[in-house]
Amino acid sequence: MAYVSSDEHVENGGARRVLLAGPRSFCAGVERAIEIVEEALESRGAPVYVRKEIVHNVSVVGDLAGRGAVFVDELDQVPDGATVVFSAHGVSPAVREEADRRALDVIDGTCPLVAKVHAKARRFAGRGDTVVLVGHAGHEEVEGTLGEAPESTVLVETVEDVRNLSPADARQISYLTQTTLSVDETAEVVGALRERFPLLHEPASEDICYATTNRQKALNAIIGESDLALVVGSTNSSNSVRLVELSRRQGTPAHLIDSAADIRPEWLEGVRTIALTAGASAPHHLVTEVVTALGEFGPVSVEEREITRETVRFELPSALRGDTDPSADGSTS
Ligand code: SF4
Repeated sequence: MAYVSSDEHVENGGARRVLLAGPRSFCAGVERAIEIVEEALESRGAPVYVRKEIVHNVSVVGDLAGRGAVFVDELDQVPDGATVVFSAHGVSPAVREEADRRALDVIDGTCPLVAKVHAKARRFAGRGDTVVLVGHAGHEEVEGTLGEAPESTVLVETVEDVRNLSPADARQISYLTQTTLSVDETAEVVGALRERFPLLHEPASEDICYATTNRQKALNAIIGESDLALVVGSTNSSNSVRLVELSRRQGTPAHLIDSAADIRPEWLEGVRTIALTAGASAPHHLVTEVVTALGEFGPVSVEEREITRETVRFELPSALRGDTDPSADGSTS
């Protein structure tokens, strides 16, 4: 394993450039979900149960677990009467019903943008449409959305899946997407849907969320100048994995890393410019730590490349605000 020393760098033409993609790291939905668990620990006291990982990041989950959050896969692992937080990815109505039946103290961490997709699924199915959900099988968000109208919803992942669709009525068909997909790949699948079903009902607004779109655009803006991309995020984080794929599709090698400790010296051999970003569930401090770690492989210069500034904020659920108006849950400010 070759170590790239500081001296070699200077000889080879100075510092290695790190281009920081902006926006990167936490989105509003993730910040809200983490705050919900923190507030619940504060107001209810430990343990607070959390169904599934609150957000898909090992560092965040490890930190909250150390402060008294207990992560479970299903509600049958939650004792009667306990407080349970639903993760940012949302749950199906069947899970809500079970929690109601068991009179659990539920605090809903579902991102308001995921909840919006759920509401559309109910509306589209309610008017008699076959609802095509574009997404990745097995992802928690997809499970939740499918559960809103299981009889009427069909999941497609690829253009090939679109070819194999056989809806009851080709004039009564609409589509939705997972919030964390690749913008480019989704456009191909939706294009295939439009071609096969000319009367396809389009959602009034994009389901791929602002944070996913911004992180892909920000990386796109710098990837052409970079020899390598490092994406901070966990392997089960859909939007982080999409960033790695985006880079590789453009011919730039890319690695998904949970933290600075995952960086392998051989990745940096011959690399002058590194695009550095982080998925929406990865904390900012991990990016700072990566920059510091890169400095151990030779001098680095850091350039921030921000394409837009995000100002989206979501309110906490009424169960934590102490007011009685649940209709205000998740509103933006
Ligand atoms: Fe919400 Fe988008 Fe963040 Fe997911 S990535 S939690 S949909 S803002």
